[in-house]
Amino acid sequence: MAKNDKRIIKNIRIDVDKCNGCRACEVICAAHHAQPRFSSTNPARARVRVIREPLSDIYVPVFAGEYTAAECAGRDKYIIDGKEYEECAFCRASCPSRDIFKEPDSDLPLKCDMCESDPTLEEPLCVTWCLADALVYEEREEDAAPEARPEEVDEGLEALAKRHGWDKVMDAVNRMGSKD
Ligand code: SF4
Ligand code: SF4
Repeated sequence: MAKNDKRIIKNIRIDVDKCNGCRACEVICAAHHAQPRFSSTNPARARVRVIREPLSDIYVPVFAGEYTAAECAGRDKYIIDGKEYEECAFCRASCPSRDIFKEPDSDLPLKCDMCESDPTLEEPLCVTWCLADALVYEEREEDAAPEARPEEVDEGLEALAKRHGWDKVMDAVNRMGSKD
């Protein structure tokens, strides 16, 4: 890799004060990732989930992050405006201890992919559909990190296969590679 390789960092800035809990972001994300695209709106397929506390008027969009093979031993509890949230409420991981961020048919982990598609979208769909302007898309350039070594990729796949079986993993990889 050349020393001064650059990469684009894609970022969604979340303004929790503007979120009204409409869940349009969940609906469009689920539709975009349905097979075939836009054939269903099951929010269980969304890579963003709005953690809600309607009585306190608090809504926090949380985007699906990395898969983790094991539950963590230490957990976080948040108190916002006097309301205490459940353990792990704002965690981004797809993790064995809860159902969130798992593909409902296969149980495979879900992760926000910034709406990767061909042709490339101008901005992620959840941003476009958020009429409250709670989500704002930003890009910045920074030095590229070294690429993952092939053995690191293999280790990640093996962890998934151990839990879900190779058939399901390969099926998901194939579906991710398809363009519709
Ligand atoms: S679309 Fe915007 S306002 Fe509606 S729940 Fe999602 S982030 Fe909140
Ligand atoms: S950026 Fe795209 S994939 Fe990620 S949560 Fe938003 S709609 Fe879903």
